Parts: sequence; structure tokens; C-alpha cells
Amino acid sequence: MNIGIVGLGLIGGSLGLDLRGLGYQVLGVSRHPGTCQRAIERGAVDEASVDLTLLAAADVVFVCTPIAAIAFTVKQLIPHLSPGAIITDVGSVKTAVVEEVAPLWQNFVGGHPMAGTTDSGIEAAFSGLFSGNPYVLTPVASTPPKAVKVVEEIVRSLTSRVYFCCPEDHDRAVAGISHLPVMVSANLIEACMGETNPMVLELAQQLASSGFRDTTRVGGGNPELGVMMARYNRDCLLKSLLSYRQNLDRLIEQIEQEDWQSLEKKLNSTQQGRSHFLKAVD
Ligand code: NAP
Repeated sequence: MNIGIVGLGLIGGSLGLDLRGLGYQVLGVSRHPGTCQRAIERGAVDEASVDLTLLAAADVVFVCTPIAAIAFTVKQLIPHLSPGAIITDVGSVKTAVVEEVAPLWQNFVGGHPMAGTTDSGIEAAFSGLFSGNPYVLTPVASTPPKAVKVVEEIVRSLTSRVYFCCPEDHDRAVAGISHLPVMVSANLIEACMGETNPMVLELAQQLASSGFRDTTRVGGGNPELGVMMARYNRDCLLKSLLSYRQNLDRLIEQIEQEDWQSLEKKLNSTQQGRSHFLKAVD
């Protein structure tokens, strides 16, 4: 089977490395010739080009561009595809993407691998990124079951844990566990940067260790991706942020009023609640 990948960055390049390792023929397209060259050198693709005509021979195409470019890329891609080809994407937001792309090409299956790092670009790609991690597929009523099956099989071959849901449920769920953490973590870094005493700021920078690393990892990631999450999952993210602000206000009240009992109750509950979100990974 020939697999096409458009957008040879962290996700596209990592997909290429794994899929080639599994014996698929991988054809890659990216904007810059230098990226195509590096993708070939790194073994992420068999062939690469800046020209979408390369994908005429593809059976399945993964669109791995930034979210803002997905629908435009699909429009550019369609004239070059064979009629039975399947398109899937990897965008971190699904409702906006699926609403725009599904009417353009029937054999389209929305997807989102829940895996990443703080780095971006082809140099950041590595094999095994998806192994053991969730991979969500978001078919809609018009998606042909045969196309879903084909994408599911490819994704399962990456040893990802495959989940199915509608685009709206996906966006609501990831607003809480992925997009809100990015914003909160970025705000945490900003709050620490706001220390006004230069001596204390320097001391804090020297003392920051594993706790700071864990809680700020996602806030210190690719800024473009963070903006895309906020732009394309705006409503769900705003709901999550407002609910978070209410929790924060309650927390401030508890500490101001020295209500240590309520604080302990809250921390007991969050200690237990955390494990429910991480049962599949721990
Ligand atoms: P990335 O490392 O920046 O890679 C995107 C690549 O797409 C770039 O290297 C760029 O290559 C190429 N590109 C940019 N604009 C393009 C365009 N208009 N047409 C064709 N190629 C274009 O970003 P990423 O982290 O892989 O994210 C890609 C997608 O994966 C996004 O939709 C994101 O939502 C999704 N995603 C990301 C993560 C994560 O944690 N990073 C996780 C899951 C899903 P050139 O050098 O050729 O311009």
C-alpha cells in the first residue's frame, strides 16, 4: 500500500518513520525542498517532493500540516488523487476540520494521534512516537465504514490505542485534558517570570527542578500549536478556562480564609481523581 504524507514535521515525519518500518511505501510532500531532502535522509519517506502530484499513486494520505492549512491542503490535493484514495488528518481539533473537509472528499476520516513533544519540524521526528498512545478517529454519518477500517488498521499497526468518537465529543474532551493544560501551564511559566526581584527570580530559576519541568512541559511547547488549539477549539476551551477560573477563585478563598479542611478535602479528591485519567498509561 502507498501512503502519502503532507507536512513533514514532528507528526508527519514520525508517521513516515514508523510506516516505512512496517513496510509501507511512503510518499511525502512538504512546502520546503530542504524539509523534503531531510525527510529522505532521515528515512521518513521513500520519495519526497514539494509538488502534490507525487501523491497520485497514494492509497491513503495523512494530512499533517498545521490545523489552519488542513482544509486548504485537501483542496489542493484532491485534483491529484485517484478516486478511491482515502484522506485522513492528524489535527488536534476535529469539529472545525471535519466540518470543512468531509464535504470535499467522501473518503475522509478525521483523526488525532494523542502524542507529541515540545519540539517541531522534521528534525524532531522519531520512530515510536505513537506506540502505546491514544489515537482518536472521528468518523461522521457520511464516512464510508470501509475507509474507517483502512485507517483503523494502519493506526493499529503503529500499536496506538484506537478510540472512536464524534468530532464534538473529541473537542470537548481534549479541551479539558490537552488544551486547558497548555494554557494553564503557559500561564504558570508567565507567573514565575513575573517575579519582580531580580535576585529572587535568578534564585527561582536555579532552584526549578522536576516539579517545574513536569508542570510546564506543555506550556513551553510549540506556540503555533497553542494558538491553533485556542483558535479552532475556542468555545470548548473557553468553557474549560471559565470552569478552571471558578476553581481557582474557590482555592484562593480557601487559603485566604485559612480553611485548611476544605483545602485538604480538595487535594484528597484531586489525588484520587488524577489516577482515573492516567489508568491506561500508568
Ligand atoms: P510541525 O512539526 O510544525 O510540522 C508541520 C510541518 O508541516 C512543517 O514541518 C512544515 O514543513 C509543513 N507545513 C507547514 N505549513 C504547510 C503547508 N501550508 N503546506 C504543506 N506543508 C506545510 O507541526 P506538528 O507538531 O507536526 O503538527 C502538525 C499537525 O499535527 C497539526 O495539525 C497538529 O494539530 C497535529 N498534532 C500535533 C501534535 C503535537 O504535539 N505536536 C500532536 C498531535 C497532533 P515545511 O518545513 O516544509 O514548511
